[in-house]
Amino acid sequence: EKMESLDASVSRILVFVRLRPMGKKERENGARCCVKILNKRDVYLTEFTNENDYLRLKRLRVRHFTFDSSFPETTTQQEVYSTTTGDLVEAVLEGRNGSVFCYGATGAGKTYTMLGTIENPGVMVLAIKDLFAKVRQRSLDGNHVVHLSYLEVYNETVRDLLSPGRPLILREDKQGIVAAGLTQYRAYSTDEVMALLQRGNQNRTTEPTRCNETSSRSHAILQVIVEYKTRDASMNIISRVGKLSLIDLAGSERALATDQRTLRSLEGANINRSLLALSSCINALVEGKKHIPYRNSKLTQLLKDSLGGSCNTVMIANISPSSQSFGETQNTLHWADRAK
Ligand code: ADP
Ligand code: MG
Repeated sequence: EKMESLDASVSRILVFVRLRPMGKKERENGARCCVKILNKRDVYLTEFTNENDYLRLKRLRVRHFTFDSSFPETTTQQEVYSTTTGDLVEAVLEGRNGSVFCYGATGAGKTYTMLGTIENPGVMVLAIKDLFAKVRQRSLDGNHVVHLSYLEVYNETVRDLLSPGRPLILREDKQGIVAAGLTQYRAYSTDEVMALLQRGNQNRTTEPTRCNETSSRSHAILQVIVEYKTRDASMNIISRVGKLSLIDLAGSERALATDQRTLRSLEGANINRSLLALSSCINALVEGKKHIPYRNSKLTQLLKDSLGGSCNTVMIANISPSSQSFGETQNTLHWADRAK
């Protein structure tokens, strides 16, 4: 354990790694497995092992990482949800903000982890399901109202994924930074939510050349706002609001290659400013710096009240097992290691 985590000014970020299964195509193309997860914590990365060699890993030239938890390819969506996000849903009901990010290269499993499929819904859907179950248990104590908004940051432009149209403008008001005109969808049940999110996801920006695929430079942010109202013994109204942000980040592949350059020189190179700014904020938080550079991008402005301080912050680093993705996997693991 790091000594700094005892210091209240240093934010603790929980960091998890999720390994996805090898795809059929990858296997057919001769990909070999280069990652092994043991003891639900240890991640071993090697360039040249075959899958049965992992017991000898300590004698091979391997890189070893540990995280709060590491999920092997057999981990279910429910396990990922419970371990990473369950506590944050509880905290939101108590009025505390939190955020969960999926980070990783394109194809590493970010959208699968966050959104999932109809048969295997991901963290976004399971969080809302859990939230409604908890609200029902507590409904006698007072009144909870749940609102959802789903938005995209693409090339530093903010768009509403629930009602696509013109870009949204960020404004600073008493509550903090808000996207003017953003749809606040009042949600009553889980059933409607999966369809809503699937539809929203289809509204994400696509690259002109590959129009069915979500752009690897698009960030999707689901914000779940829970408002709670009740009366105390002397009948005064008490209210509190908690916000949970669940973020399917843009692919990390381009940002990492040029991490060392300054933001300004990167703009021309079409590098993802929001992803770099998020990295800077997380590094500043972990190092206990006083100044956190939230203003550097749209993504970090939107998440200012949900990142650092007393907020719960969770990072899920998604990785592929394929030897063909070795470089990206190594970059992602190094990045995740620095966020601890
Ligand atoms: P990303 O959003 O990071 O680009 P995706 O979530 O789209 O990656 O995943 C790439 C492919 O791998 C998709 O076909 C997805 O269904 C599949 N996949 C990712 N993670 C898993 C998993 N844990 N189990 C099964 N299939 C997965
Ligand atoms: Mg995706």
